[in-house]
Amino acid sequence: MPELPEVEVTRRGVAPYLENHIVSAVVLRRSGLRWPFPPDLPALLSGRTVRATGRRGKYLLIRFDHGTLIIHLGMSGHLRILPLDSAPLKHDHFDLVLGSRLMRMTDPRRFGAVLWHGCEDGTVDEHVLLRGLGAEPLGEQFSAQTLYRHTRQRSAAIKQVLLAGDIVVGVGNIYASESLFRAGINPKTPAKRISLARYEKLAEAIRAILAAAIEQGGSTLRDFVGADGQSGYFQQSYFVYDRCGEPCRICGAAVRQIKQGQRSTFYCVNCQK
Ligand SMILES: [Zn+2]
Repeated sequence: MPELPEVEVTRRGVAPYLENHIVSAVVLRRSGLRWPFPPDLPALLSGRTVRATGRRGKYLLIRFDHGTLIIHLGMSGHLRILPLDSAPLKHDHFDLVLGSRLMRMTDPRRFGAVLWHGCEDGTVDEHVLLRGLGAEPLGEQFSAQTLYRHTRQRSAAIKQVLLAGDIVVGVGNIYASESLFRAGINPKTPAKRISLARYEKLAEAIRAILAAAIEQGGSTLRDFVGADGQSGYFQQSYFVYDRCGEPCRICGAAVRQIKQGQRSTFYCVNCQK
């Protein structure tokens, strides 16, 4: 599943081909993915100039003067920039055509989304899918204070609280295990029991891990132009994730795997208290 770093790298990859370019056509090859496509999308976007690209959590935002196109890659979606005459394959559902190139959305499992939020409905942050999102982990509004203040009443385990996404977005299953390891926090610890000093370490770990993943993903940028464009998680060497039974890279103890809310959590009992 594409996570925040993959979406941000996708944004950076497609941005030069979108920003300040005029949409010449929109191609919809089915009626929708997770939700129906806005049927008037071709009329809404044709002839309009892309002003900017952005991202909120895992939502890619393509901004026009009269509104914002919101794209979510779902479980299996990806975007590529291709020459205009590229023949579509079975899972290619949506094209945004910009002169001699097009941005194509491929999504075999069809959990992705293409939605429109017009200016008349307020800023895009007010969209029903965006307004409940927590702070951007790489933005200025995210800090240890954000985590501390919003967890004083939360007795749920910190791993679960991170995954919930209402305090901070983009800390998916892999990044939650990894950042808790780096911060030395046991994933089962109730969020309200964690001190501000420990949240300082956690906030720093979250930022560092996501920034490193984005940086690593930058080397795959060429995949967005031509080729097959298939990308999973960026190849990173993890401290604990998916390393059940293997020695902890710090203390040598066997990494443990537990289930928290149906998701696997990996941690080291020695290093994480
Ligand atoms: Zn350890």
